[in-house]
Amino acid sequence: MSDNNVKVRFAPSPTGMLHVGNARTALISWLFTRSKQGKFLLRIDDTDQERSKKEYEDAIIQSLEWLGMDWDENARQRDRFDRYNECIEKLKSEGRIYACYETSDELALKRKVLLNRGLPPIYDRAALELSADDIAKFEAEGRTPHWRFKLMHTPIHWNDEVRGDVNFKGEDLSDPVVIREDGSPLYHLCSVIDDVDYNITHVIRGEDHVSNTATHIQMFEALGATPPKFAHLPLLSDGEGGKLSKRLGSLSIIDIRDEDGLEPMAVVSLMARLGTSDPIEAFRDVQPLIDSFSFSKFGRGTPKFDSNDLLRLNKKILHETSFADVKERLNIPEMDEVFWNTTRPNLNKLSDAAEWWNVVNGPVTPVIEDDEFATQAASLLPAAPWDENTWQEWTSAIKEQTGRKGKQLFMPLRQALTGMEHGPELAVLLPLIGPERALSRLQTKKAA
Ligand code: GLU
Repeated sequence: MSDNNVKVRFAPSPTGMLHVGNARTALISWLFTRSKQGKFLLRIDDTDQERSKKEYEDAIIQSLEWLGMDWDENARQRDRFDRYNECIEKLKSEGRIYACYETSDELALKRKVLLNRGLPPIYDRAALELSADDIAKFEAEGRTPHWRFKLMHTPIHWNDEVRGDVNFKGEDLSDPVVIREDGSPLYHLCSVIDDVDYNITHVIRGEDHVSNTATHIQMFEALGATPPKFAHLPLLSDGEGGKLSKRLGSLSIIDIRDEDGLEPMAVVSLMARLGTSDPIEAFRDVQPLIDSFSFSKFGRGTPKFDSNDLLRLNKKILHETSFADVKERLNIPEMDEVFWNTTRPNLNKLSDAAEWWNVVNGPVTPVIEDDEFATQAASLLPAAPWDENTWQEWTSAIKEQTGRKGKQLFMPLRQALTGMEHGPELAVLLPLIGPERALSRLQTKKAA
């Protein structure tokens, strides 16, 4: 297959927010597609009509767009039930889909018996032995069938882009349920029909789908199609001591954007390289990640997601971002280039800029515990103009005159100038605060 025929889909189920794990699958699928000048399809897997929600779909799309991904085509499974039914009827007529009448309790019992005997819980195909009378009896009881795809008991093999040779035997797998009791088709067969109809060349997804793929390959063949190539990515695991408030499993891209206030390229930089042999570095542009993408760089081990890495990359990206690139996102219109360039090296998140702005421009309620010391410090303020050496010059003079040093010296100055015990570096802040505001803050009298 020539590279420019590549067509890849990302197929989220709109039953929840887009988490870091599925965002990674999306990103890797997208990077691969773009590296091959292929086409990218966003397919909404909404066959589960009860759990699928429009608000999740919207949030997934927003998340993908925020991360900078785009797609050439859209599809949605709910629009394709007629097509699924057409294929289902054909497969039923060929005996590849068969009706089963067991209740879920009966199936659970069968599984338990097998497991207790130390056997794999493979469906025993009892439904294939039912006589017309048995079926009539079940239907008279009001049972409606669910339907299974009948696997061939033959070897199944594919060469996975990440895992290399993968082998299964049809007889080691349960015939998958493809139609629910209420007649609605399940993801498996719908997904395969879509992959055939949309000419998908590569299916990229998490390794939790490996055994599904074995059954899907037989479905492709039953539909008269050649299976696409597959790439199964190892799933991420939680690293130790992540700093973000939520664990990986509940960490959504929208929360990373809105609650944590991180840069999309921090997420992209980490997700693109995690679990690969390439170094994890901060990228402000995605092109180098597209250019360097290759499945051959992916390992089989479980990559550890550590939100500290995300924060580190975020910082690095902000420190390299120009005023022009960030201007629109600074909520305070008066923030200018000088302010941005001065405070930028101290930002962890973009929202820290507003904190700096307030400390510089006020209003600040100075905290003064020793009027005499504050007055003395005020009298020693160096003459303007101020620069990044002013702080050093000033504090040396105060130290000399008062004999104070360390915390005794710095804390009262910080509290007087900023009203806080912690905050941005004063050497950087002082020139921004400027002589007038500094003097007035130091001259505020201690509260009675
Ligand atoms: N909707 C499926 C999921 O989210 C898609 C899996 C696939 O890529 O085939 O797990």
